[in-house]
Amino acid sequence: MIPSVDVAIVGGGPVGCACAALLARAGVDVAVLEASTAVTPDPRALAIAWSSRQTLADLGVWESLTATPMLHVHVSEAGRPGSTTLDATTAGLPALGFTVRYSDLAVALREVVGAALHTGVRVTGVDAPVAADAPATVHVETAEGAADIAARLVVVADGQGDWPGIRRRAREYPHEALLVDLRFEHAPAGWAWERFTPEGPMAILPRAVDGTLCHTLVWSLPPQRVEALMALDDAALGDAICAAVGPRLGRVLQIDARAKRRTTLAVARPRTGPRLVVIGNAAQTLHPIAGQGFNLGLRDAAALAAQLSDAAQGEIGSPAMLAAYARSRRGDQWGGVAYTDGLLRIASLRSGAVRTLRGLGLAALDIVPGARRALLARSVFGLHL
Ligand SMILES: Cc1cc2nc3c(=O)[nH]c(=O)nc-3n(C[C@H](O)[C@H](O)[C@H](O)COP(=O)(O)OP(=O)(O)OC[C@H]3O[C@@H](n4cnc5c(N)ncnc54)[C@H](O)[C@@H]3O)c2cc1C
Repeated sequence: MIPSVDVAIVGGGPVGCACAALLARAGVDVAVLEASTAVTPDPRALAIAWSSRQTLADLGVWESLTATPMLHVHVSEAGRPGSTTLDATTAGLPALGFTVRYSDLAVALREVVGAALHTGVRVTGVDAPVAADAPATVHVETAEGAADIAARLVVVADGQGDWPGIRRRAREYPHEALLVDLRFEHAPAGWAWERFTPEGPMAILPRAVDGTLCHTLVWSLPPQRVEALMALDDAALGDAICAAVGPRLGRVLQIDARAKRRTTLAVARPRTGPRLVVIGNAAQTLHPIAGQGFNLGLRDAAALAAQLSDAAQGEIGSPAMLAAYARSRRGDQWGGVAYTDGLLRIASLRSGAVRTLRGLGLAALDIVPGARRALLARSVFGLHL
């Protein structure tokens, strides 16, 4: 293993690799330490905001991805009048965002990191520096045995975990996410849907598979309901989904895959420690319904890279540099947490009167000047314009 490096990144997921690629481009000496040896296939469709697309294009990974554009997002309340549509033209953009497969993105980002990515390297601990100007020590395990790496800055992008000076507060949501890959009879291209149903909110994202328009549905539901839906055969599951979606998209023609995920809200506090910073899911793990997680993590990576690009080598990992990074990210990080958690809280209010109010609220977005633009600024699916 390398004995020392300026920046050691723990975790070569999409956020860790994006951070490494941005840093390498800025001439920073960086190494990514990734426990797995290869990306595990994961069909998860990630909604990528327009701004994230730009970052990925700058890194040269966008062209290699199969991306499905989202030009319109329709938001509605099931069984109540009132809905709104967010359009790319309102935002003045060619597309509101795109969907890509998680594993395609993970592979493309690993490739761009190249030799700075060390796979099969599990980080087992980090020791804080013994003196203010000393490096941190990263303990790793590889097939060849244990080793230590000295680093001026340790960037934790492992998606989880407690590290020196950082505590992660986590709470499980009382609902699970049902994930279904499927095809609808009449779904038009370029559209995504966010729907408040009496049982829980659902998002439907478009996703092109070998030139055919397919969709991924994410539905937040009580665990017993997820269990019951998972036990249905394809035809019955399709009928249950149609009943919740309404007639707009026609019948469910095919179900390709189904899965369920527990859902958690976790926030690291503080997000920096001595020569250490947490980014991406390690800093904030959000419910997938609002499609914010990767987009927020990528903005963490870009902001950190910007701080480090401007820093002299002696400043890398200094308290002043880390404080400036933390300040620059506070609003966006809390905004992402508050938007996603708030959406779930609003969605979990199920009384008839609240549902009517939600429907009216959506209708009001079409009338109140600037309201839709404001929703787009944070918005469903992490669009964050
Ligand atoms: C069903 C679902 C749908 C989602 N949809 C969206 C969406 O539409 N839009 C969006 O923006 N986000 C979405 N997200 C969130 C998104 O997937 C995450 O925010 C994103 O993957 C976080 O990336 P990351 O690199 O921070 O962490 P991860 O993807 O968790 O990667 C962490 C990496 O660290 C490695 N690692 C862990 N521990 C160690 C260790 N000790 N040593 C070395 N390596 C280690 C792991 O092997 C892994 O490769 C969704 C999530 C789910 C579950």
